[in-house]
Amino acid sequence: MARVVGMTNPSVIIVGGGYGGITVAKALDEVADVTLIEPRDAFVHNVATLRAVVDPAWAGQLFIPYDGLLTRGRVRRDRAVEVHPGSVRLASGDVLQADYLVLATGTAYPFPAKLDSDDRATGARRFAEAYKTLAAADRVLLLGAGPVGLEFAGEIKAAWPGTAVTVVDPADEPLGPGFPAEVRAELRRQLAELGVDLVLGTSLRELPPTEPGAAAEFTATTLSGVDITADVWFPCYGAVTASAYLAGELAAVRRPNGQVAVTPQLRVTGQETVFAVGDITDVPELKMARLAQFHAAVVADNIRALIEGREATAVYEPTPDAIVLPLGPHGGVSYAPEAGLLDAATTAHIKKTFYIERYRELLGAD
Ligand SMILES: Cc1cc2nc3c(=O)[nH]c(=O)nc-3n(C[C@H](O)[C@H](O)[C@H](O)COP(=O)(O)OP(=O)(O)OC[C@H]3O[C@@H](n4cnc5c(N)ncnc54)[C@H](O)[C@@H]3O)c2cc1C
Repeated sequence: MARVVGMTNPSVIIVGGGYGGITVAKALDEVADVTLIEPRDAFVHNVATLRAVVDPAWAGQLFIPYDGLLTRGRVRRDRAVEVHPGSVRLASGDVLQADYLVLATGTAYPFPAKLDSDDRATGARRFAEAYKTLAAADRVLLLGAGPVGLEFAGEIKAAWPGTAVTVVDPADEPLGPGFPAEVRAELRRQLAELGVDLVLGTSLRELPPTEPGAAAEFTATTLSGVDITADVWFPCYGAVTASAYLAGELAAVRRPNGQVAVTPQLRVTGQETVFAVGDITDVPELKMARLAQFHAAVVADNIRALIEGREATAVYEPTPDAIVLPLGPHGGVSYAPEAGLLDAATTAHIKKTFYIERYRELLGAD
């Protein structure tokens, strides 16, 4: 797209450099003056974190530098602490103004599914420590039988078949609602084959006395009276939407669960020039990296249209539930309405590289 020489480009601030944020930033780099605000020193490919925690070779690949993402714009390493329409106050104290804002701060999730540190060195150390703890453990307890708990259980059993893995969840079925019974049946079959012990329909009377991820034996008791002794435990639940920085009229559209109300154009409700993408939005669908990128394409189209003096007409339709859930390098279950249930070999093939090459290319890392 040719730019009009001599005219100042409209400015766009994107808050958050996860899957959605990097995709919008890249798409608008040639038509706008783009600033991406991100506290991390490298993009974290969290789709592959549960493989990385059992396979040190993967841990080294999770972090992809931001340096090659933008040609004209910039990635500013900082954190948004107060955001109003058109202005962003950063943790450093600076206040940035922009014609358009895109909120893309996603969700936080307990380690190891997502990282809680902003620097790559600390993140790499956390993965190395967790690997060491898991390698030495005879018994692992995972709390939560959603996609994270199940994927983690599968990875541990595939890496260390002799380790006992117990997954506890108050729901009666693994994975939760939204998928056909045949998907859960296939999951149960593969988990049984791997030797994962599912304790469903109950929860712990109280959380284990040790810190999550700490190497220390403990015994916890379920409400149904089952004692579980393990050497380490991890919480596999508790996504928290990262939107506490919204202020003034933007805070008013923050839902009680932290999500931001958006229109079909993915504008923040009531705003002309503030958009949101990814996990932070209240779009009624699963929260997925893939979908955050679909949102990003809609938002980039709309901002580009507004910059060029056209209407913002691109709209986003919520996507039906689909999943690719690996259980170690050779197992797993996938489902999409158009494809139906896909077996272990197909799932393992789809997730073979965790799509990392796509993100390395997007981030200009190759
Ligand atoms: C273990 C696991 C496996 C998954 N596997 C898949 C999969 O196979 N396929 C799939 O499609 N999805 C998968 N997902 C879901 C996917 O990771 C999320 O949907 C995705 O990360 C959402 O992208 P996002 O851009 O909205 O936010 P995020 O990826 O959460 O990125 C948000 C970014 O914003 C930054 N940020 C936060 N607060 C601020 C602030 N105040 N100021 C500035 N920046 C800030 C964060 O540092 C982060 O970099 C998986 C999730 C997990 C946990």
